Amino acid sequence: MSSEQSTGPRRHRDQGEWLARFADRILVVCPRCGGRADVTERPGLPALQYYSELLFRPRRLTCAACGASAEWEAAVRGGGLVAAQLGGTEEPFFLRPLWLQTRCAGHVLWAYNAAHVDALAAYVGATLREGGTGATRAMFPRLPRWTKEAGHRAEVLAGLERLRTLSERSAPADRSDAAHEHGDHARPYGARYFRGGPY
Ligand SMILES: [Zn+2]
Repeated sequence: MSSEQSTGPRRHRDQGEWLARFADRILVVCPRCGGRADVTERPGLPALQYYSELLFRPRRLTCAACGASAEWEAAVRGGGLVAAQLGGTEEPFFLRPLWLQTRCAGHVLWAYNAAHVDALAAYVGATLREGGTGATRAMFPRLPRWTKEAGHRAEVLAGLERLRTLSERSAPADRSDAAHEHGDHARPYGARYFRGGPY
């Protein structure tokens, strides 16, 4: 195993820095019914101070349709909590495929939630990209190159519109044909499940 494999691809870490701000709610494929489930912070936690806290605070998966439920807690290693690794089309806590995935320009376009779709659309649709806040400048250079190429702009915007529509749907029949495992997750972490079922 190379050192790169043992530490995880660098691009995942880079994505994680800005993806964290959209990680408060992640739409995933329900492990039980195949519809849309929500991965959110466990209720009752203290107010968030930094986006990065979203990577190790306790999580809950819930499906309003079928009642599936699961809990996740960060592993403890060396006396500290091991943060989840964001990036790729797999949600990093329960390792579920993202609900918001669509095929686009020979790739898979994905997002965590509707706010994430809006942010991506605002960027990709912008003719002039030099503006924006410091946070925006830090966030978007790390997008895959293909999403930023002028020749792909119309395709990417159409793909984001499909993701926006998907974010408003939740039935198993609404599942995108791209919303499956693509083997591009960062590093797997253990999830603790408190209910049985075909997970
Ligand atoms: Zn379900």
